[in-house]
Amino acid sequence: MSLLVVGSMAFDDIETPFGRSDNTLGGSSTYIALSASYFTEPIRMVGVVGDDFGDEHFNLLHSKNIDTRGVKVVEEGKTFRWAGRYHYDMNTRDTLDTQLNVFADFDPHIPQQYRESRFVCLGNIDPVLQVKVLDQINKPELVICDTMNFWIEGKPEELKKVLERVDVFIVNDSEARLLSGEPNLVKTARMIRNMGPKTLIIKKGEHGALLFTDNGIFSAPAYPLESIFDPTGAGDTFAGGFIGHLSRCAKINEAEMRKAVLYGSAMASFCVEQFGPDRLNDLDMLEVEDRYQSFLDLSRIGE
Ligand code: AMP
Repeated sequence: MSLLVVGSMAFDDIETPFGRSDNTLGGSSTYIALSASYFTEPIRMVGVVGDDFGDEHFNLLHSKNIDTRGVKVVEEGKTFRWAGRYHYDMNTRDTLDTQLNVFADFDPHIPQQYRESRFVCLGNIDPVLQVKVLDQINKPELVICDTMNFWIEGKPEELKKVLERVDVFIVNDSEARLLSGEPNLVKTARMIRNMGPKTLIIKKGEHGALLFTDNGIFSAPAYPLESIFDPTGAGDTFAGGFIGHLSRCAKINEAEMRKAVLYGSAMASFCVEQFGPDRLNDLDMLEVEDRYQSFLDLSRIGE
């Protein structure tokens, strides 16, 4: 089923306690699309890059059946760049540098052939642009949305306008608390769901994720990995696995939502095993299903 992904496309310079990787392909929509590509097609990407975004990157996306006709290439422009450094616990990171470059003038235009997309995933971009995207789509079945501290603090009113039109909102715990002004996550969830999204996912890094729906709360564990090389993109990869699974379902119900959270968690657990999106390039579906099974086993009591 058709999935439209709108977000950043980037080159990242990443430093972790285990090494560094420069000029790494990144951006929210890159991770979302690569992750979702294991579950569904066509995936349609809308974004902007400079002419430094080489064919090898487009070829990678095309090899995963990701349609990039909605990606604008600005001649003599430079792609968005981000640099970050992770600390020992890998839960905290410092942003060392952000160069918006061509992303500063990003004005998403949804091509005519993308406007009937049934699923829409709004990656982390200015909420004003997220609204612009929604204004161009004809009645999608499900809209999911991600954001970050920067927009919660900088454009709270604009973000609230997006939330009124979103079905599933994905945030991490600190962002959720910032948005609600409430420390307790259960109360926070009620407050955010009252802003619009019927379904809310609060990610808690190495402590898993919580899904809040009309039917209650579902708690997904995080996979206890021995080696975490690079958490960059884990949140976006989660979103890609989540929407990817839902996009292949004939009917979306509570059980499929719960499975989607586990598929999102499984994809995120692969993402952090190597630098950048490398691990998302060469997975096969058997590995994904195996990891999904491991998630189920994590909380199984036995006979
Ligand atoms: P995550 O680790 O899930 O937060 O996503 C990391 C990705 O977000 C990196 O590949 C960055 O290129 C991208 N990114 C960082 N800052 C921004 C920003 N201000 N707007 C859009 N994307 C960003």
